[in-house]
Amino acid sequence: MLRNDQLDQWDRENFFHPSTHLAQHARGEAHSRIIETGSGVHIEDRDGNRLLDAFAGLYCVNVGYGRQEIAEAIAEQARKLAYYHAYVGHGTEASITLSKMILDRAPDNMSKVYFGLGGSDANETNIKLVWYYNNILGRPEKKKIISRWRGYHGSGLMTGSLTGLELFHKKFDLPFDNVLHTEAPYYFRRPDLAMSEADFVSHCVAELEAMIEREGADTIAAFIGEPAMGTGGLVPPPKGYWQAIQPVLKKHDILLIADEVVTGFGRLGSMFGSEHYGIEADIITIAKGLTSAYAPLSGSIVSNKVWDVLMKGTDETGPIGHGWTYSAHPIGAAAAIANLKLVDELNLVENAGVVGSHFTSAMRDALGDHPNVGEIRGEGLLMAVEFVEDRETRRFFDPSKKIGPTIAGELLKNGVIARAMPQGDIIGFAPPLCLTGDEAQQIVDAMTKSVESVLGR
Ligand code: PLP
Repeated sequence: MLRNDQLDQWDRENFFHPSTHLAQHARGEAHSRIIETGSGVHIEDRDGNRLLDAFAGLYCVNVGYGRQEIAEAIAEQARKLAYYHAYVGHGTEASITLSKMILDRAPDNMSKVYFGLGGSDANETNIKLVWYYNNILGRPEKKKIISRWRGYHGSGLMTGSLTGLELFHKKFDLPFDNVLHTEAPYYFRRPDLAMSEADFVSHCVAELEAMIEREGADTIAAFIGEPAMGTGGLVPPPKGYWQAIQPVLKKHDILLIADEVVTGFGRLGSMFGSEHYGIEADIITIAKGLTSAYAPLSGSIVSNKVWDVLMKGTDETGPIGHGWTYSAHPIGAAAAIANLKLVDELNLVENAGVVGSHFTSAMRDALGDHPNVGEIRGEGLLMAVEFVEDRETRRFFDPSKKIGPTIAGELLKNGVIARAMPQGDIIGFAPPLCLTGDEAQQIVDAMTKSVESVLGR
C-alpha cells in the first residue's frame, strides 16, 4: 500500500473541510479518515479498515462503489471530448441523450431539464426560475418561498435559507426574509402526542394555510419540500400529507418544487419520490443518484406549465440570463447515462423497495423494544433509528451526552458507517441500492451490538 505519512499533516495544514469542526480538525483533535478505495457497498481507508458504507457516501453512491462501466464511460468521454459548453444552443451527444433519459423516467407533466453541478446550485436555479416565472406573469410581488423546518435544500445563500436547520443559519445571517418555514411533517415529534396521524396532517395544513393567510397568497411564489425528509432526520411523511398539502398550494397558485436530490432515481423503491407519494410538482430537483456521485451533476426538471412561461419570457426579453460554465458537463452526463443504465440493468429501484422493507423490519425486530429507541422509520433504503431518554414522553437526551455520535462511533468500530443526523439523536441509514439481504442483516447486527454497548439492553 502506498503510504504518504505527511498526508495527515498536509490535511490539517491545507484542507478546509466542509461541515467540519475547523478548529478541532486543524489542531488534530478530531477524527479524520483518508479513504482509498471502494467496491460494492464497502470502502477501505488507508489504514486498511474495510467498512460497510451504510450511508452511500452522502446518500449518493446509489449503484455502489467501483463500477467499471461508469469509469469507462467517463474515460471515453474525456478522451473524445472532455468539455464543451451548453450556452446559446450548444450540446453534446451525452447531454442531449441524458436529458431524454431523464424525461423518459420523470412524471408525465415534465418538459425539460436544466443541468447544474450539485443539489444546492440546482435549487438556487429553481428559485430564480420561479421568480422569473412570476415576473413574466406580471406578479412582481409573488416571490416568497415556503420551506419546512428540518427541510434540507443545500447550503448556498438562498438554499441555506430554505434549509430549516439551525446549524446552517447560525452566524451566517440566514435565513433571508423572503423565506418562510412551516411545520415539518414529523409525526413522531408532533406537538401533541394525542394527535392521530390524520389530526397531525390537518395540523400541518392548518399551519400552512395560516401562514399563507398571514403573508398574503399574492406574495408567495413556491413551496419546496423533499418527498421524504432527508438530512432533517430521514422522515417519511405521515399518510395523506402530500394529498392534503397540494390542493392548498393549487388554490393559492403557489408552485411546488419537489426536492428529489435524495429520493430521485430509486431510493424509496420508486423511480421518484413524486411517483411514490402522488406528488405533482412544477419543478423537480435531482442530483446525487443521477450519477451515483461518479461525477458532479444535478438538474432542475421543469414542467410544461413553467416551461411555457419561460419561453414567453425569452420571447419578451431575450436569452435567459442564467447559466454556469459547467452546466451539462459532458463527463457528468456520460457518467449519468452509464449510471442510469446500471440502475435499470441491476433492477436497483425494485431492490431498494424489497431489501429496504426487509432491512427496516429486521431493525424493528432487533431494536424495536429497546427502552431508548423511540422510533424506527423507513421507506425503501432510507431508514432512521431515533433515540429518546424516555419512551413515554419522548424526552430528548441531554445533547451534551452526544448519544447519536457515540453510537455512530461505536458502529464504525463494528465495521459499519452510518450517519448521526443533526438536531436529535438519530442514526440514519441510506446504503447503496445494491445492498443485499445479508448485508442488511450485517448492518442490523452491528447496530444492535453498538446500541447495547452505549445504552445497555
Ligand atoms: N437537497 C437535498 C434534499 C439534499 O439532501 C441535498 C444534500 O444533501 C441538497 C439539496 C444539496 O445538495 P449538494 O450538497 O449537492 O449541494
